[in-house]
Amino acid sequence: MDSKFNPFKMAQQQFDEIAEKLNLDEATRSFLRVPMKEMHFTIPVKMDDGTTKVFQGFRIQHNSARGPNKGGIRFHPQETVDTVRALATWMTWKCAVVDIPLGGGKGGVICDPHNLSMREQEAICRGFMRVIARDVGPLVDVPAPDVMTNGQHMVWMMDEYEKIMGGKFPGVITGKPVGMGGSLGRTEATGYGAMYTVREALNNLGIDIKNTTASFQGFGNVSQYAIDLYTQYGGKPVCVSCWDDKDKKSYSFIKESGLVFKELMAITDKFGTIDKAKAVELGYKIEDGNAWLTQDVDILVPAALENQIHAENVNTISPKVKLIAEGANGPTTPEADKVLHERNIFMIPDFLCNAGGVTCSYFEQVQGNMNYFWPKEEVLEKLDNAMTSAFQAVYDLAKRKNIYMRDAAYMISISRVAEASKVRGWI
Ligand code: GLU
Repeated sequence: MDSKFNPFKMAQQQFDEIAEKLNLDEATRSFLRVPMKEMHFTIPVKMDDGTTKVFQGFRIQHNSARGPNKGGIRFHPQETVDTVRALATWMTWKCAVVDIPLGGGKGGVICDPHNLSMREQEAICRGFMRVIARDVGPLVDVPAPDVMTNGQHMVWMMDEYEKIMGGKFPGVITGKPVGMGGSLGRTEATGYGAMYTVREALNNLGIDIKNTTASFQGFGNVSQYAIDLYTQYGGKPVCVSCWDDKDKKSYSFIKESGLVFKELMAITDKFGTIDKAKAVELGYKIEDGNAWLTQDVDILVPAALENQIHAENVNTISPKVKLIAEGANGPTTPEADKVLHERNIFMIPDFLCNAGGVTCSYFEQVQGNMNYFWPKEEVLEKLDNAMTSAFQAVYDLAKRKNIYMRDAAYMISISRVAEASKVRGWI
């Protein structure tokens, strides 16, 4: 992995290339290539052992021309301000590509929930919200879960916000548990959404999903439900990698006859780590964490973190691979992306592929505003329609102009956000 990798530089490089292609004026470029507002702050927490630890938090609001800022909050020991800047930028493009009336934002805390008690995590969530309460809100900026955060973290943050503001404000946050203002289908939404785009891509390529195999990186929320739906569609997942926090490395779990989703879930902890001994008993072969990338499969689904497919490993991808579906944000560096483009591998870019989560967050807001909640089938049907039409619009543009899918997605998003900023008279 490239230790000098900077995700924000990557996001800006991607933006600059498309700004050039779209012939955007200087003011629009200067405005859209950086966040509109940033918050960097400390969160002091009394730990269970009586000491006080000071955590670093960020909330970055990239752009709100199309609506309130929207995006998750990550807990990660390697979090950096530039990672959060990049993720906030990608959220703006993500909401625009699925055409929902929201802008982009992202939050992060440098911490490792593996080593924190529930009480300590609650203190971080409440401390985080205390700092940003005046700068977020249902009509301003709406956080959600992301890497290593979940519905419980969201409820603590919402509760803290409500204490400060006095009243009930379920719209301040999405990804809430069902029964607490959450939407059915939100947990599945990102992984299912990714698979709706894979289904559409394969249809357009004339490939029957039932004749395909796939390999996944990561076994967190995105990958789990992507594997689940891919299996329901009749595809054969043969490999999944996951991080093992005890060994401080990742492993790949391989089963040629096909991973069995339910059996893997039964031996996986809440951070997505699969129990190795139990996996061996169930007939899985365990290999190095990088093995997921080199499998002879039709489809690769990087669904872990950024900077996973880069210049040094892109050439280890099998010639059999026809499609890459980026479940994670920013998994492919621009250098590797060029190679994949040259190799004619069909790309479903991150901010299109994983837009199901935020689309369902938008449905959560809509249902919350009506105070009337839809059955799961209805949520998933609306999600499928939204993802399918977003995919089709990008695919049509890519085909018509004979351009790479990532470029087509960027062109649609950046044009929409530039237009909204102009109509408002901002630039
Ligand atoms: N964290 C998710 C993402 O990266 C969802 C964000 C949201 O629901 O606001 O898209």
